[in-house]
Amino acid sequence: MEYLICLLKKKRLNHGRPKDSFIWKYFNEDENGEYRVCQVKVPVSINHPDGRCNKKYRNISTTTNTINHLVKSHKIVQLNETTKGIYNI
Ligand SMILES: [Zn+2]
Repeated sequence: MEYLICLLKKKRLNHGRPKDSFIWKYFNEDENGEYRVCQVKVPVSINHPDGRCNKKYRNISTTTNTINHLVKSHKIVQLNETTKGIYNI
């Protein structure tokens, strides 16, 4: 039990911004640091009055959700050797 609590505490300490991720070109943290907010430009509409996507994701250590969002909603992929091959960019 104590071991489990220790693990949970460690996980909490690790949360936050993985500094080296490319998603920070497209996401900002909100004022509390609780959410990542998508800043990708989209056509201005009722849902997007400021012309930004503004999709929010919890600011946790993993970037999977945000990367999936960039790929699916904006066709944005990380440009590195791996994706170059897959997406033929
Ligand atoms: Zn978005």
